[in-house]
Amino acid sequence: MDIFRQLFDSESHTYTYLLADSLSRQAVLIDPVLELLDRDLTLIQQLDLVLSYVLETHAHADHVTSAGELRSRTNAVTVASSASGVSCADQKVVDQQTLHVGNINILVLSTPGHTNGCVSYYVGNRVFTGDALCIRSAGRTDFQGGSPSVLYHSIREKLYRLPDETLVYPAHDYQGMTVSTIGEEKRFNRRINATTTESEFVNLMNSLNLPEPKKIMTALPANLNCGKVG
Ligand code: FE
Repeated sequence: MDIFRQLFDSESHTYTYLLADSLSRQAVLIDPVLELLDRDLTLIQQLDLVLSYVLETHAHADHVTSAGELRSRTNAVTVASSASGVSCADQKVVDQQTLHVGNINILVLSTPGHTNGCVSYYVGNRVFTGDALCIRSAGRTDFQGGSPSVLYHSIREKLYRLPDETLVYPAHDYQGMTVSTIGEEKRFNRRINATTTESEFVNLMNSLNLPEPKKIMTALPANLNCGKVG
């Protein structure tokens, strides 16, 4: 991949990623936000790209996806995990499946635990971790079939086994951080590092007592329907 952009939604603190191949002009968006549909479509047009795929890391509870809108405006194929409950997705992917977009190869890694349908996308030396592994943190596990013990195994046995220099791009950040590496997270992650035990992680995650995401009642049903409300 030789075109790469990290885009940000300042309202939900969501990162959307644009990946494209400069030769075939085929592009992929990961986790696009409905309110920023025009921004993303304009950028794709200005860079002279054709949107081939819209990938979701999971069914989000904090913002509505633009996947359905993008599909109807561009003919892009929408992709979500077969375990995500996103039944409207054109293509439902499973662990170790590869998507080919021009010269970009995207390996699907099943990384459940934040939700039971979370996947990460591993592309070259980058991994897009959704809300499984965040920078110095990990996604909450208290709704949508989340499980701290499942997330522990996803992070330790899938993500932390990638090369240390792999760049980590999460779906959100609230501290102004934009990118990390697997090696950095194994050393400095505050919730789960290379030596954290499963029971330490489970106890920590079960004691967080976080408020519900503001948009969960509207965002979740909409996202299970590719962002179409009602
Ligand atoms: Fe999430």
